[in-house]
Amino acid sequence: MDRKITIAIDGFSSTGKSTIAKQLAKKLNYVYVDTGAMYRAVTLCAIQQGYISPTHFDEAGLISHLPNVTLKFVYNTEIAHSEVYLNGVNVEGEIRSMEVSNLVSKVAALPQVREKLVEQQRSMGLEKGIVMDGRDIGTVVFPDAELKLFMNAGAAARAERRTAELIEQGREVTYEEVLQNIEERDYQDTHRKDSPLQKAVDAIEVDNTTLTLEELFDKIMALVNSVK
Ligand code: C5P
Repeated sequence: MDRKITIAIDGFSSTGKSTIAKQLAKKLNYVYVDTGAMYRAVTLCAIQQGYISPTHFDEAGLISHLPNVTLKFVYNTEIAHSEVYLNGVNVEGEIRSMEVSNLVSKVAALPQVREKLVEQQRSMGLEKGIVMDGRDIGTVVFPDAELKLFMNAGAAARAERRTAELIEQGREVTYEEVLQNIEERDYQDTHRKDSPLQKAVDAIEVDNTTLTLEELFDKIMALVNSVK
């Protein structure tokens, strides 16, 4: 059988979800959707509008502003993947800052934010042929996905990988602050009331602590071929 399927990839922060999702989408000629970018873009908007800072969070203000928030993905041929636009502006660079990383899990805990983004995510997957990564894809967004992966890796390996990535992007970060951010986000993402990060009962757990990218890709492609 060779049919278009939905691939849901969930897991803890910096476990390699987006790297593998991008590779799969390229190989299969599928659409890739980075749902973390959507929560990050709403957070950036909340910072810009003064609804959230490290010391305050005007939840009601942000909720009432949500109808004015438009998110869109636009494919960039130069880098061969899509970038997120907030109200018509490309914010792909800004949403990866530590300022956004430190506040995003608070914004993502609001049910009103989740409801808006989940609706948009579901509509993007109507035609299948999609790889989506996040925290609630296999449990909430696409509970009927043909393939669900749950990625994990040791905290130190994740923080090392993420620090190297951020430094390569020219950002000034330390291993310690990245590790702290990863641990705090994982705690908040697994403990929130609405759609907490958890492994769907039918998800396949993939431990990415020691695998090379090639080994990981081969392992996951074998899983894809077994359900396609
Ligand atoms: O994937 P990324 O690490 O960029 O996600 C940033 C944050 O967005 C996560 O820590 C989580 O709080 C939130 N998120 C979420 N649900 C998703 C994707 C991301 O709550 N499906």
